[in-house]
Amino acid sequence: MPTDLDAVYEELKRLQLEGMDRVFIEDSTMALLTPIAPPARPTAPPFVAIDLKSAVNSEQQSDAVVPEMAPVVKAAATTTPLPDAPSIELPSGDAATQMQWLKQQVENSPVCQERLRQDEKVVFGEGALTADIFYCGEAPGEEEAAVGHPFQGKSGELLTKILSAMGLSRETVYMTNILKWRPEHDKPYGNRPPTQDEMEFCLPYLKAQLEIVQPKVIIGLGNATVRGLLGADSNSKMAAIRGTWQTFEKIPLLFTFQPAYLLFNDTMKTKRMAWEDMLKAMDKVGLPISEKQQRFFLPK
Ligand code: URA
Repeated sequence: MPTDLDAVYEELKRLQLEGMDRVFIEDSTMALLTPIAPPARPTAPPFVAIDLKSAVNSEQQSDAVVPEMAPVVKAAATTTPLPDAPSIELPSGDAATQMQWLKQQVENSPVCQERLRQDEKVVFGEGALTADIFYCGEAPGEEEAAVGHPFQGKSGELLTKILSAMGLSRETVYMTNILKWRPEHDKPYGNRPPTQDEMEFCLPYLKAQLEIVQPKVIIGLGNATVRGLLGADSNSKMAAIRGTWQTFEKIPLLFTFQPAYLLFNDTMKTKRMAWEDMLKAMDKVGLPISEKQQRFFLPK
């Protein structure tokens, strides 16, 4: 099943790029990796940890185990290099007028349009224009680009649950991504993290969104947001910087795991780490925190 195997391989590569070196893989997925790893024994526990580097590298070692890539459905049409980042000067008017104007700039940008595959949409961002908390992801994925809204699918559902546990909703925060289009690649499935150039091109849009919303806190979701918001020379890795206060555009900024990571690393420890980041953000913006909320994901 080359297509399934390709999908697993692409996902492992993406996770490795995100700085993850171990993942938990279900037996059914493990079975797809038979050419590069011993099959899971019947007595194996429900999850098997595999070493990402060796899985990805061993896949690269021999042509015999690298399946032919499935035919490209439609690579994005772009070939032109990215121009300089746009310069954005918001028009006068209220926040709604400014955001609408900005949305049009992004949606009508030939650079953004050129990078969309057929049926894909620009993902501008959405939420309360007076939000205290501004969630900033890396880039839209397939599910987001299909509908034009950030954080869809399973990871979007998880983010919605996290917000609900905080006493918030998608409507009371603002959420967007650094990159406003789904990063193109020549595979018919899977997502790739945005490059530094791509993020730098889109930064003026993000800065303008922040200027309009004026949140009290930005939460950067995912490894690429560290490079995207702190710059290419930031050597910080999520593991080191997560949960520590930084600033972007003079706004307090906290990095944490992206929901997809939490789905892959479904342990109490990781959930508690991510939840502690949310508690920090709640505290910073003055949201009440109940005893019950304080204790979420702590051992009983
Ligand atoms: N969905 C998004 O919109 N952004 C991410 O960074 C991840 C998932």
